[in-house]
Amino acid sequence: MLTMGPRGTKDILPDASEQWRFVETKIRSVCDLYGYKEIRTPIFEHTELFLRGIGETTDIVEKEMYSFTDRGKRNITLRPENTAAVVRAYLEHKLYADTPLNKLFYIGPMFRYDRPQAGRYRQFHQFGVEAIGASNAAVDAEIIILAVQFLKALGLTELKLNINSVGCPKCRPVYREKLQAFLHDKLDELCHDCQSRYDRNPMRVLDCKNEKCAELSQGAPEMADCLCDECNTHFNQLKNLLKTANIEFVLNPRLVRGLDYYTKTAFEIQYSPLGAQSAVCGGGRYDGLIEECGGSSTPAIGFAIGLERVLLALEKQSLLPDFEGTLDALVVTLDIESQSVAFKILCDLRKANFKSDMDFAGRSLKSQMKQANKVGAKYAIIIGEDEVKEGSVMLKNMQTGEQEKVETKDLVDKLYAEVRD
Ligand code: AMP
Repeated sequence: MLTMGPRGTKDILPDASEQWRFVETKIRSVCDLYGYKEIRTPIFEHTELFLRGIGETTDIVEKEMYSFTDRGKRNITLRPENTAAVVRAYLEHKLYADTPLNKLFYIGPMFRYDRPQAGRYRQFHQFGVEAIGASNAAVDAEIIILAVQFLKALGLTELKLNINSVGCPKCRPVYREKLQAFLHDKLDELCHDCQSRYDRNPMRVLDCKNEKCAELSQGAPEMADCLCDECNTHFNQLKNLLKTANIEFVLNPRLVRGLDYYTKTAFEIQYSPLGAQSAVCGGGRYDGLIEECGGSSTPAIGFAIGLERVLLALEKQSLLPDFEGTLDALVVTLDIESQSVAFKILCDLRKANFKSDMDFAGRSLKSQMKQANKVGAKYAIIIGEDEVKEGSVMLKNMQTGEQEKVETKDLVDKLYAEVRD
């Protein structure tokens, strides 16, 4: 047990960290481009926030939360997603006072007691974006385009953008009734979960993964046919804006979120080569959530992208760059006596911003030179008894094999000329 992490968790080892950094750099540059600012909230919140912010009838709240009582008897939950926490921070810090539209993004770990499998973990990471304060369909288009541009900037192809409108508390009840009427005779054949969804959240039956439920809900009425004028106009505007921006999309009436505070736009981006866990991005408008969390009625929209899945997709398409390390110089010592002089030189090199290192394990000259090759050092700086006496070093260009004696006091300037030219 002590040598194994908990089920559903993954260590990100040094090589993989480079890949994560690569993806995170792309996130920051695309968010910068679109004017989204980073927000970092705690990884745990009061459980109540998620009961309200995600909804008590959702799988996340019913089955997947890591909740516990802390030593102060508070009910705490490790965040299973971050929209509710961002909304909490938005209200707590009155961000609405600064600007009418807050454009925020986050990157961080989320926790769900899910059944682990490829692309599904108990601790996973999301990059998410929230635009709080605007009802304009252009904001829906902006964040959808941001998500698509981010995934495309990584080089991913075969992406499929699904969109739908889930209406609003005005038009949804009409649809709900129509859907319940359609499902009524099939109720006994639906899976256990869907039977309980029928009353509480019938739209969720439409995205049930159970084959039988999918079959039974074929031909169900579609929300798009029941949208009120406002929702219909909003949806048409979004479609037009996406078309104008040359963003391909598919209308998917099964893309639903049955809770009252989800409104209008729902979208998902799929990367089908990932198979069962093909959803890389899920998002939508939540015009009712801020009020649900105690604020005044404020329109908002957001998405979350699963970063493990993005990395799996990049691996599938061989899009992960080679992260060969490079070093300006490796300081090599011929004997133990030279080590303190070598260490001083190493400190000076680093102070002068040369990426440099040395061997601390007392290895032979041969293995130190091998190491210099392995880490891609541009120079080896070789120091032995003679060099220590003379106040010099042997500077070896690892590419050409040429070497020359350089006085230690001139080393930094010499390297500047060589490395930075
Ligand atoms: P959701 O918050 O459920 O809408 O999920 C948004 C995205 O997060 C999904 O499209 C996935 O890419 C990712 N995701 C959700 N749950 C998991 C999980 N258990 N493991 C890995 N990625 C996940």
